[in-house]
Amino acid sequence: PRLANQIAAGEVVERPASVAKELVENALDADASRIDLDVEQGGARLIRVRDDGTGIPKDDLTLALNRHATSKIHNLDDLEAVSSLGFRGEALASISSVSRLNLTTRARGASEGWCAEAEGQDMQTALSPAPHPEGTTVEVRDLFFNTPARRKFLRTEKTEFNHIEENIRRQALSRFEVGFSLQHNQKAVHSLRPATSETDRERRVASLCGSRFMENAVHIDAEASGLRLWGWVALPTFSRSQADLQYFFVNRRPIRDRLVAHAVRQAYRDVLFNQRHPAFVLYLEVDPASVDVNVHPTKHEVRFRDGRLVHDFIFRTLHRALADVRP
Ligand code: ADP
Ligand code: MG
Repeated sequence: PRLANQIAAGEVVERPASVAKELVENALDADASRIDLDVEQGGARLIRVRDDGTGIPKDDLTLALNRHATSKIHNLDDLEAVSSLGFRGEALASISSVSRLNLTTRARGASEGWCAEAEGQDMQTALSPAPHPEGTTVEVRDLFFNTPARRKFLRTEKTEFNHIEENIRRQALSRFEVGFSLQHNQKAVHSLRPATSETDRERRVASLCGSRFMENAVHIDAEASGLRLWGWVALPTFSRSQADLQYFFVNRRPIRDRLVAHAVRQAYRDVLFNQRHPAFVLYLEVDPASVDVNVHPTKHEVRFRDGRLVHDFIFRTLHRALADVRP
């Protein structure tokens, strides 16, 4: 199982940012209202994620930490289907097989907290009592300490941290109601309280994407044929030299999709001409039955039942919003 976990880890755990992403997803799944991340040395030395979610009852702890015994692969034909289901139940086992992992948790309503540890292997079944408020803290130290080939592929501390920050940015943009904090080498990088009002949300976007983005953005909110598109798009007065600032969420899931990208680009071209790098934070809400978000668990792809309808709705909504404010 150790080797199997290390192989699985190659798919789930590409770099520190993938660890942070999986741990934060678990915290979100556990209904956390606040998530605190501490990172040291770009995550190579430490990634600690603390949440105030449901916690894990002691009796479920051993099972939760081990890779699910029933593999979803029965034959080769299943392979494609499996990749579309994600890596259910593999993240913690995979991460623990390539790091020193320590998980402390107290289930809601439980009187005691429990701690489980692993060092480059499966979780030990021996649990020790440990004080912890309701919720869970997972500490991942010395990532890839036992897979030197992979450790060698880590980039600079700054690069690895940037990837972590980028993931958190996406997660914090997708869950306004959750408070987030991010520290790097003991210095606060983001501190975001839950955002419930429009003003709070704009403040969070400004803090994650820069106040210049917010100052140069139009707020949009439109609905038609069961679709809703809301968020912020930047005007040409916002110019950005670095990486693109392009965030698109479908039913709160961050996605990268050609059809969506095309609709946005087209609207920018039509109205503003030559706007080659549109910047936006946009949320599309659709009937979950009309979209398949599980095309690939890590590539953030979606498949719309009626792609043309979605494309035209995005295009028309942005076209109208941009034409209204065209300088
Ligand atoms: P998956 O999330 O796909 O189920 P993981 O390996 O990420 O697999 O987690 C295994 C299990 O451990 C989860 O299903 C959940 O029951 C439990 N778990 C992990 N992290 C947390 C957390 N922060 N809070 C509560 N439960 C958690
Ligand atoms: Mg998980």
